[in-house]
Amino acid sequence: MKRFLSLLCSLILSCILLLLGGCAQQTGTGTEGAASAPVSAETDGKLTVTMLDIGQGDAILIRTGTKNILIDTGDDKYYEDGRKGKENTQLFAALAKENIAAIDMLVLTHAHADHIGKAAEVIERYKVKELVYNGIPSANKYFVNALKAAKAQGTRQVKVQAGDVLDFGSGASFEVLSPSQQLIAEDTAAIKNKEKVDVNNESVVGRLTFGSFSMLLTGDAEAPIEKSLAAAYGTRLRCQVLKAGHHGSKTSSSAELLKVVQPEAVLISAGADNQYGHPHEAALSRYQKQGIKQLYRTDRNGSITVVSDGSSYQITAER
Ligand SMILES: [Zn+2]
Repeated sequence: MKRFLSLLCSLILSCILLLLGGCAQQTGTGTEGAASAPVSAETDGKLTVTMLDIGQGDAILIRTGTKNILIDTGDDKYYEDGRKGKENTQLFAALAKENIAAIDMLVLTHAHADHIGKAAEVIERYKVKELVYNGIPSANKYFVNALKAAKAQGTRQVKVQAGDVLDFGSGASFEVLSPSQQLIAEDTAAIKNKEKVDVNNESVVGRLTFGSFSMLLTGDAEAPIEKSLAAAYGTRLRCQVLKAGHHGSKTSSSAELLKVVQPEAVLISAGADNQYGHPHEAALSRYQKQGIKQLYRTDRNGSITVVSDGSSYQITAER
């Protein structure tokens, strides 16, 4: 009888472990919610996308209830006299304000300081599980330090290219549209030959979908990439919300892209009184021409939050 009981106990225990393991696999995260049932877009799950006000740069926080994803980290700005720029502290203040305790996935769009300046620190502080990037090598010190930090923390490195789909949890997914395998190969070869490459156009561009809601995230990709995406995908790129490429610079937000995306709202991440004149008048007038009524920019509105239940969405701003 004693033996039977102990057998029964171990059987029950293995069943529980199996169940827990099964759930964790389904949700695909190690966060606190991992053991709970996965939430689908059709139920009470919500997608929250916050374009954090981090000055001049990009940092976009995506929460699905099962995963926290950060796309870019803002800058590590220092002035020439050694003083810290405000961009140096804004990201961690903004993440604290949003009560972020863990980051499951960090996506680095491209190797420029205003996007990856805080990458190594984010990986260390938040014990990031997965680091996603385009796989193109770079000598940029923030990029090198990010990979070093990932190695030291045991962060899984995931190299993506057009066609890949990332699971953001709870039914949200991110379809990578750019860079193409060809661009990655060309730029990787060029870097090895010490030739110049256009780093902005190496940006990881992707379409975030949650139920019938979608948002296009473009990094700093410029018109040549936008035009080739518009030609390749056409109105399949249609999204309710567009993150303006390259901080609303005139070199992005081409009419060709706007025509196929047909966004209802455009979100721009740009620092107040930035030296580059972002967002540019030419881009703003293209949004107007396209009939886009909702325009949000971090320099004026502070952090901007989009919440969707998988069918409708609301946008709120700090100011
Ligand atoms: Zn940038």
